[in-house]
Formats: sequence, C-alpha cells, structure tokens
Amino acid sequence: MNIFKRLWRRIFPRQPDLELSFVEGDTPPENLSPGHLVVAREGDELWAAALLCPCGCGERIELALIEEATTKWRLVSEERLSPTLHPSVWRKTGCRNHFWVRSGMIVWCKD
Ligand SMILES: [Zn+2]
Repeated sequence: MNIFKRLWRRIFPRQPDLELSFVEGDTPPENLSPGHLVVAREGDELWAAALLCPCGCGERIELALIEEATTKWRLVSEERLSPTLHPSVWRKTGCRNHFWVRSGMIVWCKD
C-alpha cells in the first residue's frame, strides 16, 4: 500500500459492510436490516447467523453455526466491526451471488 493510500485510510477509516450483533436464543430475529450480521447464541453456544444478501436483492440468508449442522459456518472473528465467517457464502437460488465475509467487509467472488 502506498503512502497516500495509508494516509487516506487513517483520515477516512473504512466503514464495515457488516456490523456484528448478537441476540439471545437459537434463532436470529425475523427482521434484519442491511449491513448487519445478527448471530443467535445461547450462552457460549452460537446457533445461527443471519443477514440480508449484500448484493441488495433483499433476500434473507441464514447460516448454521452449530457443530451438529451438516453445512455449517464458523464465526472466525467476533469483533463487532470486523466479523469474519468461514467458508464463503454461495447462494444457490435467487441472485446466486458468492462472497466472503472478511473483517467486516464483503469480498465478492467472480465465478
Ligand atoms: Zn443477492
């Protein structure tokens, strides 16, 4: 990164695409707002994460985080402004977008 970019970042820090929040329980809330990744947890156990598709199509995406799920994701970083999920999210229906959530940013995959 060159010095100007670094300086720019220092003056104008990047706003995250996704901000993380938690709710108590095993299900993420019905109503989600864009730019939010909501994780349902009971105590230490993370159940599921939900977000609105970041492409703007408005579809709800729900990801299982529990150990027992066959297809599951892991919340690698639980930082409020820089959540990271693993693996990527690939929508098989609707907009069919494919993206990573890394450090609060949406990283689009070109497939
Ligand atoms: Zn979409």
